[in-house]
Amino acid sequence: MTTLADAEALIATIPDFPEPGIQFKDISPLLADPAALAVVIDAVVEPFRGRFDVVAGIEARGFMLAGAVAIAAGVGMVPIRKAGKLPRPAASVSYDLEYGRATIEMSSDLPAGARVLLVDDILATGGTLVAGQRLIAELGYELAGTAVLMELDGLGGRDVVGDVHSLFRI
Ligand code: 5GP
Repeated sequence: MTTLADAEALIATIPDFPEPGIQFKDISPLLADPAALAVVIDAVVEPFRGRFDVVAGIEARGFMLAGAVAIAAGVGMVPIRKAGKLPRPAASVSYDLEYGRATIEMSSDLPAGARVLLVDDILATGGTLVAGQRLIAELGYELAGTAVLMELDGLGGRDVVGDVHSLFRI
């Protein structure tokens, strides 16, 4: 039986990508393995099962997880996209990156007060997930929870994001 530890072992570390000095965590081999993908999706959903109405995934790797989480939990999904990609953005939040700023957007296709589970692949400094949480709040939805596959320790992400369910920590 494939375990969470087996799934974690499939995450590759790519040195100097996308820039020198960055140790990039590549979840692609995990996604490509059917048993590992199933065990990981189940573990993401488990603490929140029955407690959310929809899952929101952050572009781009969050999309891959959100679709699978939605099917596993029997809910729908909404995309949180980089600025300029959604045809009908209803809210927009900008945040600081290591170099420069980024903006993400969300549409308002959900009933007021919908309980939204926010997912992404990696928690690093937390800027991306905090921006996603703000979008959900600005649109009048309820944050049901925040979940990631992997949390990079020592970057302070957990301090700014608050309660976050992470399967792996390095
Ligand atoms: P943060 O905003 O927490 O600093 O960075 C998290 C965002 O950057 C996530 O959307 C995540 O996809 C991406 N990210 C940062 N570092 C990595 C990494 O090592 N691997 C992958 N796959 N994504 C990363």
